[in-house]
Order: sequence, then C-alpha cells, then structure tokens
Amino acid sequence: MPQMYARCNNFMSGAASAVGVNCKFIAIGESEDEVLNQVYDHLGSVHSVDGKELTNNIKRCIFTRGTKVFGTRGHG
Ligand SMILES: [Zn+2]
Repeated sequence: MPQMYARCNNFMSGAASAVGVNCKFIAIGESEDEVLNQVYDHLGSVHSVDGKELTNNIKRCIFTRGTKVFGTRGHG
C-alpha cells in the first residue's frame, strides 16, 4: 500500500531553474527511495532536470500518508 508521496510542484518550486512550474505529478511509493526514483524519472523525462541535484529539496517534500491532514475527508 502506498505510504509516501511527493508533489512535483512542491520540490520544483524550490529549484531556481524551474520558476513557474505548475506540474501536478505526484510520486507515490512505499518508501522514500521508491518515491525518489519515481521523481528522478519524472524530472529527467518531463522537465529535463537532473533530479539528483535536487535530492535534498525533494526529500524535504516527501511526506508520509497520515502524518499530514489534507482536510476532513478520509474517514475510511
Ligand atoms: Zn513535474
């Protein structure tokens, strides 16, 4: 079951070279590594960015499901 996720828009907003990015991609995985790999892949293919240069930035934007409240939805 997916537990961790990162939104492209979040970590790209911290990259000076990517001002104005409004990407809705969300990487979802069971571990930080899994999310990171998806992000690297996405950044390389969609944004032509070397994701490894943004690793610290990305890690700050990886959240674990359940630790952040999105709203009042999600009773089940
Ligand atoms: Zn993106």
